[in-house]
Amino acid sequence: MNTIDQIAAQLQGYDSQALRAETAQQFLAALVNPVTETHTVDLKQALGMVLAADVISPISVPAHDNSAMDGFAFAGAQLQSGQSLSLDVIGTALAGKAWSGTVADGQCVKIMTGAVMPAGLDTVVPQEMVSGDGHRIVIPANALQLGDNRRFKGEDLQKGKPALTAGTRIQPAALGLLASLGIAQVNVLRRLRVAFFSTGDEVLSLGDAPREGAVYDSNRYTLFGLLTRMGAEVIDMGVVRDDPISLEAAFQSAAAQADAVITSGGVSVGEADHTKAIMRKLAGGDAGVVFWKIAMRPGRPMAVGRIGKAVLFGLPGNPVAVMVTFLAFVRPALLQMMGGNAEALPLLKARSEEAIRKKPGRTEYQRGVVSSVANRSLVVKTTGQQGSGVLSSMAHANGLIVLHHDQGNVNPGDEVDVMMFEGVI
Ligand code: AMP
Ligand code: MG
Repeated sequence: MNTIDQIAAQLQGYDSQALRAETAQQFLAALVNPVTETHTVDLKQALGMVLAADVISPISVPAHDNSAMDGFAFAGAQLQSGQSLSLDVIGTALAGKAWSGTVADGQCVKIMTGAVMPAGLDTVVPQEMVSGDGHRIVIPANALQLGDNRRFKGEDLQKGKPALTAGTRIQPAALGLLASLGIAQVNVLRRLRVAFFSTGDEVLSLGDAPREGAVYDSNRYTLFGLLTRMGAEVIDMGVVRDDPISLEAAFQSAAAQADAVITSGGVSVGEADHTKAIMRKLAGGDAGVVFWKIAMRPGRPMAVGRIGKAVLFGLPGNPVAVMVTFLAFVRPALLQMMGGNAEALPLLKARSEEAIRKKPGRTEYQRGVVSSVANRSLVVKTTGQQGSGVLSSMAHANGLIVLHHDQGNVNPGDEVDVMMFEGVI
């Protein structure tokens, strides 16, 4: 495992006291490692988990050539350009109940969608295309071609070939796909365990009586939501008092149980509390933890490192800064630790409906409301007040406007990058 200094030495332009957001992301990508332990779970439990090995299809899907339409199956070689074709209906093939007789030229079999194609037949004429009665049908000239409306055996999945590959995060469609193969259990990487707690003597837990100068702990609830949506196993350690003994005990217990430890509060410059000192002590000094000043807004202070085997993310205390630093830095790092194929949030382009002031030299994440206008392009406006304590603005937003490091002021109508929350928070 690389030390902080070794990772830093590999990054161009690394400056812990004026760190570009992209450099912080690269640093974290070098710091974390994916989990390797695997286990077998029932299919429904696998939702959101990462496949540990390729799933080889034990069967072909569909298992037989079958009909894609309700209609009449026949041998397509009888179709002649410019001529209609009359056929006698000699039987019926239902889904789940095949027709097993032989079908000669001049004959056809009534067939339902999904029913096995009778032997020797290769073409289905949809029932709405034909005229005639129940015993004899007429297919109009030039209405279709040999092979139309037939699904091939193995067209979806072929026996012996990988249906899904290792590293796939199992989403609803993958659950259905695995079920279609008759697979009831899958081998997945174990869930990532993430412990988190809040620090600060002014921070109240729910249920505590309000008091002058104190605030209710919102960060643990935000983190609970963010981590749960990511499919992590969350270990909520509550609010930890600002004294060295409580903090040391909390960090040690968190690091012993979890792959990642996330704290909020106590990492700003000039903090009077003990959080930074305990982090440094337990990380084994400066080789194990670094206190960043990131060129960003909101956010800025953040501690990263390792305590024992656990990765440490010390987030600032401000509720909005917690969410932004989580989305920008912690989430990509945790996804990498979960072992899935990288799932960086794609940034979308939207036109700003307003002027936004922005100084080059830092990355800004502004809370935005993205909507689509009549011509279907995306537009975005900010939620107004962007103070880093204004959690209501975060709750009203549906995405973050990402104003990059070197970018300057935005004029109305300019295109900006947006990171949508959908599927994330
Ligand atoms: P700090 O980073 O510890 O200086 O905290 C910055 C600001 O965030 C202060 O106003 C704190 O009161 C506030 N804060 C810290 N932790 C929390 C929390 N868990 N929930 C809500 N606000 C917090
Ligand atoms: Mg504090």
